[in-house]
Amino acid sequence: MTSVYIDVAVPVPLRQTFTYTHDSPLPAGVRVSVPFGNRKLIGVVVGMLTEVADTSRLKAVAAVLDEQPVLDATQLSLSRWLWQYYHHAPGEVMHTVLPVKLRKGDSATPAPQTWYRVTATGAATAADTLSRAPRQAACLQMLQAEPASQASIKAQFSMAVIKALSERALIEAYEAAAPVNDNAWLSQFKVGEKPRPDSQQAVAIAAIHQQAGKFAPFLLEGVTGSGKTEVYLQAIEDVLAAGQQVLILVPEIGLTPQTVARFTRRFGIEVAVLHSQITDAARLQVWHQARHGEIGIVIGTRSAIFTPLKRPGMIIVDEEHDESFKQQDGLRYHARDLAVMRASTEHIPLVLGSATPSLETLNNALSQRYQHLQLTQRAAGAVATMQHLLDVRDQPMRFGLAEGTLTLMRQHLSQGNQVLVFVNRRGYAPALLCHHCGHTETCRRCERPYTVHCAQQRLQCHHCGATRPMPTRCEQCASTELVTAGIGTEQLEQGLAQLFPASAQVRIDSDSIRGKDKLQTILDDINKQAFQLLIGTQILSKGHHFPHVTLVVVVDCDGALFSGDYRAPEKLAQLVTQLAGRAGRASKPGEMWLQTHNPQHPLLQDLVNNGYAHFARHALLERKMAQLPPFCAQVIIRAEAMEGDVAWRFLTDSQQRLAHQHVTLIGPMPSLIEKRQGRFRFMLVLQSSRRKVLHEHLRLSLPVITALPDAAKVRWSVDVDPTDF
Ligand code: ADP
Ligand code: ZN
Ligand code: ZN
Repeated sequence: MTSVYIDVAVPVPLRQTFTYTHDSPLPAGVRVSVPFGNRKLIGVVVGMLTEVADTSRLKAVAAVLDEQPVLDATQLSLSRWLWQYYHHAPGEVMHTVLPVKLRKGDSATPAPQTWYRVTATGAATAADTLSRAPRQAACLQMLQAEPASQASIKAQFSMAVIKALSERALIEAYEAAAPVNDNAWLSQFKVGEKPRPDSQQAVAIAAIHQQAGKFAPFLLEGVTGSGKTEVYLQAIEDVLAAGQQVLILVPEIGLTPQTVARFTRRFGIEVAVLHSQITDAARLQVWHQARHGEIGIVIGTRSAIFTPLKRPGMIIVDEEHDESFKQQDGLRYHARDLAVMRASTEHIPLVLGSATPSLETLNNALSQRYQHLQLTQRAAGAVATMQHLLDVRDQPMRFGLAEGTLTLMRQHLSQGNQVLVFVNRRGYAPALLCHHCGHTETCRRCERPYTVHCAQQRLQCHHCGATRPMPTRCEQCASTELVTAGIGTEQLEQGLAQLFPASAQVRIDSDSIRGKDKLQTILDDINKQAFQLLIGTQILSKGHHFPHVTLVVVVDCDGALFSGDYRAPEKLAQLVTQLAGRAGRASKPGEMWLQTHNPQHPLLQDLVNNGYAHFARHALLERKMAQLPPFCAQVIIRAEAMEGDVAWRFLTDSQQRLAHQHVTLIGPMPSLIEKRQGRFRFMLVLQSSRRKVLHEHLRLSLPVITALPDAAKVRWSVDVDPTDF
């Protein structure tokens, strides 16, 4: 017997595939059980090898789990791209792509169902001879016409009827696979009432139509409420009518019943939904249905990008700037970037929509790699919220709020309106600020603020890695009142309760909304005005509207302006703009105040006076001058360990091995969150203006780093195109 060599992605954290022998060829995408060490693991066949140098130690495939591949050609090619681009273990990539149940070895063909058919006697029995049992007569008649699944019979008849007919041997049960209803949804498809698009919407819809059946990425940049969703709806209409499927990615928090209902209502078809709360069984069902063409629309969060589609027609990524599209552990992929790869593999249009596009996407649009579609006016007549800066230098602060802010809050509350106090809980790398003059300690070489590392009592520049001891006086005015930017949220909450005892307050963050429908309940209560003071974090900026909120206070902008995370100003601007889009309505216009020690800061000025679109173009220029992403490629190697020394040593050794003329190495330095769960965390940043060179260098160096003596003692990972520090 001649055997063949099979290349298998085995779910272990090693950056390689493994070779096994088998007695016959296997197609890529089939699952196999293979011996690995003293275990058996479920891997996925990724290819066949014709020549193997040393065959003496090869083991044989233990079992083949599938007759047909579980991963289609698109998924296989995206998986390969994922493990190469993100420098991740192939087996772990495959396990991310597969639904949980398939990873565990469940059958990939849907479980057989119970069906009923008539027996020979049943076929020969006239239904009207059962006239004393009319339900049985009706059921028999139905089955005489054609067999039916138990589920479909139970929709019309009780189990007792089925039982009675079975006991009389008129019908019998049997097991059979569920039939594939490819494109059955198309018979229900009909376009509901829709508004007439305004001229900008019409241009966008026509531009997308024109590219049907081709890879064509679009940025749909439209201010909040400008009718982006309406553009998606009208753009996918023809795609669906042609029997093609549409995949829509939304941020976790944006996936509300209202969003789904809008698509269902428009097209009259069922919409499959995928998010973190969906059970593994339901997830697998959607996976099957989508793969067999049984559903027309799939709406889901990040991992929905892996859903196979039989006849892909279009991909939409709504709120494409949202950070939830980047996975921050394991395989650290960006679903938006994967969507671009996928649309190109499947030759279909891709629409990235946002009121506040990421600088990466904006840059692609401005450099004409993406077609740029713009909606500059609000559709439903709401007016824009006015934005102002509030100078807090030398002001007495109470719980992080200046007197001027408190006065404004009192005014709005006394008029019966709601006030939203926005606190940034995201851990921006803190900077050191002078409360008197607003000066920030800045690295001379890079002209970027130092990041405060409290544990070491040092300042470090996250741009070049330079460090210096923590100063005690302001360089500029010698004041000793130096504060770190950023205000404690707990302190603020307690303070607000004390300052405004008569106003009911509610806090909305990821902790307070845990649990099914909790967020919806809170939002309903807010709109019923059960609360006057809303204390919110990032969650509040997304997808909801607060018509009674007339004042929005952003407690601290400085943390974002001077953070060692160069993305912080972009994130702040997105938040502020999204928040402004949520408040007020035509009859009650809103105002927004941003507290800052740096009212003259050009980015803040630009944002407040000229809006996000202008700000973002300016910020892109700054990134270009500083040679930061998207004008360079970045990779972070992160390491953490109980003993900080070991993680530090590992990164220092790595740094030496990684030296390269076209790659800048920054660090090692402490991560933004220096210690978590007892582990000290450090990072080493790799940067290059040549993405290909950086990736190739990393690919060649990773085996060397993996072999370092400390590599096995620390938890370390590779983060490509990091969005967080
Ligand atoms: P976005 O997705 O940009 O926030 P939506 O598509 O949700 O905007 O539109 C905001 C509101 O305006 C919705 O109530 C929507 O029904 C309405 N709308 C959108 N386009 C039009 C239009 N062309 N004519 C009338 N109303 C529209
Ligand atoms: Zn000063
Ligand atoms: Zn520097």
